[in-house]
Amino acid sequence: MIDAGRVKEEFLELASIASPSRSEGAVARRLYAILRAMGARVEVDDAGEQVGGQTGNILARFTGTAPAAPPFLLSAHMDTVGPADAVRPVIEGDVIRTDGRSVLGGDDKAGIVAILEAVRTLRERRIPHGDVEVVLTICEETGLLGAKHFDAGRLAARRGLVLDVDGVCELITRAPAANRFTATVHGLAAHAGICPEQGLSAIQLTAEAVARMRLGRLDEVTTANLGVIQGGLATNIVPDRVVVRGETRSLDPAGLEAQTRHMRECFERAVAGREVTVGGRVHRARVEVEVERQYERLAVADGAPIVGLVAAAARGLGRGLRTRATGGASDANVFAGRGIEIANLGCGMREIHTVNEWVDIRDVVLTSQLVLETLRLNAAA
Ligand SMILES: [Zn+2]
Repeated sequence: MIDAGRVKEEFLELASIASPSRSEGAVARRLYAILRAMGARVEVDDAGEQVGGQTGNILARFTGTAPAAPPFLLSAHMDTVGPADAVRPVIEGDVIRTDGRSVLGGDDKAGIVAILEAVRTLRERRIPHGDVEVVLTICEETGLLGAKHFDAGRLAARRGLVLDVDGVCELITRAPAANRFTATVHGLAAHAGICPEQGLSAIQLTAEAVARMRLGRLDEVTTANLGVIQGGLATNIVPDRVVVRGETRSLDPAGLEAQTRHMRECFERAVAGREVTVGGRVHRARVEVEVERQYERLAVADGAPIVGLVAAAARGLGRGLRTRATGGASDANVFAGRGIEIANLGCGMREIHTVNEWVDIRDVVLTSQLVLETLRLNAAA
């Protein structure tokens, strides 16, 4: 039912419009026009101003033809990682590659095209469907910023799909919540040759904290990493300040909190009781820890209605549907955190975040068929 030629043409057009994070203006203008031409009411929010980007998130509303059907959300992101100053897709039959100098941006334009073509076909063929809300976000690749700044209260849909992961006929139903962790260790500066005993080395204190910290893969669903360490001015100065940035992720909320507490305690224990007296004044080492929840977890049960709906759609196409977990996050985590029953559907992107990225248009066509069938069943139930 899906027009493969149109999918290919639209993918090539959108991929050719470079859209690195915060520079989604050109592709957003094009998508705005496409969605309007398809008959949607389209709005752009103020997320772009809030994150310093060229445009906000797009919300397009299609009025359903089956009023009893529950409204359904479809979402993908407009931005790409770099390098993406100019994108020149190379066509090899059904496979679209890059010229080796940029990413392709199939992440996530494959998802956008699959959504557009599914909704377009649904309407052209007058297949009964409920209200469809399409959210195209900015700055997914820079910490899900667009989705975080999107007001989910504007949505009528309580259920839906994000299309933003590799593979096809695969549904990500589990993804971890994450905490961002920043520790600032304060010691005391002193001349390293003349009076090191009058200093407190923030580097040494940090090393002690890190040495006793559990990091890496902690269990099947929990990971932790320290990714940035900054501090010190010169080899002849006892360093008075180190900043360490890290993260921990877990599918298990208790595991996430336990690991966050452990990381905090490692720093607190390393500085506890560490002090020097200089000129009659006592200087104590100390640490400031900041923890910020980056996003909530995605945890959709295999028996959840959204999984049943997509699985039934896949069966209708003679396909299986595999659900799986991932250690990465997507906008689905943000929507899930706002109470929407949502999962992340594979849409055919391959070797993402590299200049070897490619897309097989047949995968995008199949994904679009799957979305169309999902929307049809959503109205038929
Ligand atoms: Zn993506």
